[in-house]
Amino acid sequence: MKMGSFFMRTSNALKGYSSSSKLLLLCTLSISGGGVVAYSESRSESEHPIIDAHVAPKKKVVVLGTGWAGTSFLKDLDASRYDVQVVSPRNYFAFTPLLPSVTCGTVEARSIVEPVRTLIKKNKGEIKYWEAECVKIDAANRKVFCKDNINNLVGRGEFSLDYDFLVLAVGSQVNTFNTPGVKENCHFLKDIEDAKRIRLSITDCFEKAVLPSLSEEERRSNLHFVVVGGGPTGVEFAAELHDYVQEDLTNLYPAVKDSVKITLIQSGDHILNTFDKRISTFAEQKFSRDGIEVQTGCRVISVSDKEITMKVKSTGEICSVPHGLIVWSTGISTIPVIRDFMEQVGQGKRRVLAIDEWLRVKGCENVYAVGDCCTIDQRKIMDDISAIFAAADKNNSGTLTIEEFQDVMDDILLRYPQVELFMKKKHLLDFTSLWLDSQGNERKEIDIEGFKQALSHADSQMKSLPATAQVAAQQGTYLARCFNRMDQCEENPEGPRRFRGTGRHKFLPFRYKHFGQFAPLGGEQAAAELPGDWVSMGHSTQWLWYSVYASKQVSWRTRVLVISDWTRRFIFGRDSSRV
Ligand code: FAD
Ligand code: MG
Repeated sequence: MKMGSFFMRTSNALKGYSSSSKLLLLCTLSISGGGVVAYSESRSESEHPIIDAHVAPKKKVVVLGTGWAGTSFLKDLDASRYDVQVVSPRNYFAFTPLLPSVTCGTVEARSIVEPVRTLIKKNKGEIKYWEAECVKIDAANRKVFCKDNINNLVGRGEFSLDYDFLVLAVGSQVNTFNTPGVKENCHFLKDIEDAKRIRLSITDCFEKAVLPSLSEEERRSNLHFVVVGGGPTGVEFAAELHDYVQEDLTNLYPAVKDSVKITLIQSGDHILNTFDKRISTFAEQKFSRDGIEVQTGCRVISVSDKEITMKVKSTGEICSVPHGLIVWSTGISTIPVIRDFMEQVGQGKRRVLAIDEWLRVKGCENVYAVGDCCTIDQRKIMDDISAIFAAADKNNSGTLTIEEFQDVMDDILLRYPQVELFMKKKHLLDFTSLWLDSQGNERKEIDIEGFKQALSHADSQMKSLPATAQVAAQQGTYLARCFNRMDQCEENPEGPRRFRGTGRHKFLPFRYKHFGQFAPLGGEQAAAELPGDWVSMGHSTQWLWYSVYASKQVSWRTRVLVISDWTRRFIFGRDSSRV
């Protein structure tokens, strides 16, 4: 009785505090052995509504998508300046790097998702959220057409929204390369629902394999797990599955433990081929020791419910193998609504939606795109070289002095990041090195040909950014900061000089900062590629992985859930119940 009223009083007292404050209080209480410790922190900002000073109608911002890019945009946007509406068919944000862990129950699905409404409530301005899918963008009339996600509202589920600014953050879909049978017979691993389905299917495969009516051959087929795609996701899933089988399932299904086989199919010559060579070799060797069969140089040509058929690239030989479950993870492609939009804005011939260095969609006013749904179409310096030369040649002499060159160099470095990469690659200390001729002698002045020659190889350093959460999140944050300073930068532009026009660009262009990437390889081992060509592999890297992924969680709630899932798995193993 006393205990009950204590909990009631505690929970009432804690109402209204942010979850991090509650967590800190509870930790303090438990550390101090239950003694009452007074702790107070300023309450969340939402309890002190900010009085809005804007009188003119606010510009309408419509955001499509609540993944990495969309939520990082919404987190940093000062929503009190705009009328903000968000449309997304999933009312949660999913921490995708832990999806492979969800497929085997190492982490529970609910531990890596955060409701959109919780995230937008943290913004000091009002953000409206609609659980719906955008089905069409009308770029000419600045409208988006949406269909709600709630199935029982038959006939009432469609609506449209007008926008002044549109932010596309809709992500991508799995690329099947139109391989017959893939959509019908393979699992994808893009979303929480996919991960949950894979988890159930793994259990199904094992339960089916132990049924008394099955022949030995059928047992083996049911327990043949195939992963198509040797990128980070495919490799991580194969490693997770191997751990799940070795650490948990072989104890539960001892009769079939020798029939389990995991095959990883990769069309290239190596797995993890976007990583450093040392990492891809380490991963291949580890998988070979673990008994995961890696088939490189194979292209899948069709899939049926029983068999997967592939072609060995070197010999042209075609072979089919029976399977119990296939996970298809071979890269991404553009979703239909963006495809249609690309046709409207004159990008119909492109494979991916092109944006400029300020994340504006090319060929369309007031539409921005962030994350996996687009790619930055970096401007070549050679396309502008004459304009840059003309702008630099202040006295119209037809030649540049070093001072004239110096004068434009800062703007060049800002506008064309490939120039800096080129200088780094060539170990040039500063841009005056570009001033030297091919014999290494300092020139007095250079003409347009000399100028072209100095910068001619810079464009070879242009690289498109990878489709990762890191890129998406940084783009979202960058764009929010631009939106927050729209008026300020209109008056005082901060960007580089416009070489082909007059004045300066309003904002600095987007710059990506790479913090490295991980590849968990199972058996408590991981590989990491860190900035500055650092490579680290093994058990200690796995601990680095745990700490980075715990720290990157979007809320204290998910952080606690994920860490407790990891602890539960260490102590009790994974749960194979089919629920
Ligand atoms: P998403 O995060 O995919 O979000 C798209 C959003 O748009 C979703 O909310 C979706 O519901 C919504 N949407 C879709 N269609 C519509 C529509 N028609 N209308 C409105 N809304 C729509 N990256 C890393 O950096 N590190 C990792 O370790 C890593 N691991 C990964 C593991 C897996 C299994 C996967 C699948 C990806 C991983 N990635 C990782 C990549 C990373 O998840 C993506 O690059 C990132 O999610 C891209 O963010 P986004 O916001 O562009 O798209
Ligand atoms: Mg001159």
